[in-house]
Amino acid sequence: MKYVIGNWKSNQNITESLVWLDGISALRPKFSPNIQVILCLPFTDIAAFNQHLADLNLPIITGSQNVSHLLPGKHTGEITANMLGELVSYCIVGHSERRHDFKESSDLVAQKARLLLENSITPIVCLDLPYLDEQIKALFNLDIDVSRCFFVYEPITAIGTGKPINPVEANHVAGQIAFLTDNTAPILYGGSVSQDNVASFVEQNKIDGVLIGTDSLEPTLFAGIINSLS
Ligand code: PEP
Repeated sequence: MKYVIGNWKSNQNITESLVWLDGISALRPKFSPNIQVILCLPFTDIAAFNQHLADLNLPIITGSQNVSHLLPGKHTGEITANMLGELVSYCIVGHSERRHDFKESSDLVAQKARLLLENSITPIVCLDLPYLDEQIKALFNLDIDVSRCFFVYEPITAIGTGKPINPVEANHVAGQIAFLTDNTAPILYGGSVSQDNVASFVEQNKIDGVLIGTDSLEPTLFAGIINSLS
């Protein structure tokens, strides 16, 4: 199985998300049974998007981009894993934007991953050099079953820059992540993936898919990525 995961970040309101879905539907990308397409949305879009997805009968699975590290309770404004359990199957944690801009530590990311798994949501854990050991060790410290997670190697220089790293280099780091996680989980690459370069990443033997930011926002570009792999 190969995975194509979109990350809209803080873009698209409900109306725009439904227009996007109509756009993808009209383009009729070649969804194939060996490619799983996952789209990670802003919290506010998920319920309406899921409903419209069901109406259109498209094989896209939804995810969120964040979750609280806290259990349900007196935490004004927090969105817990328990709440997300009714809405999504996946959730990104540890994206470099959150680790950097919101000072999220590897221990906090691990706490989020644990709560997600307790609510049957697959954590999509983003990782980067030179911190792989520490970022993965934090998961083992909380006894997290890493075989139930996805991992994404996201070199910071490649995110949103239009400058992906060399696929062979990405494959080498994916191999390191596979080794550190006992070869049990899917390993993806993220960073300026487009319809023109996606195949060069996914054909690498240690890379099971891609995480896409910028080119997930435009239906023609996202459909192009799906078609490039079908
Ligand atoms: C990302 O932010 O996870 C990402 C991969 O972004 P982009 O595709 O824009 O590089």
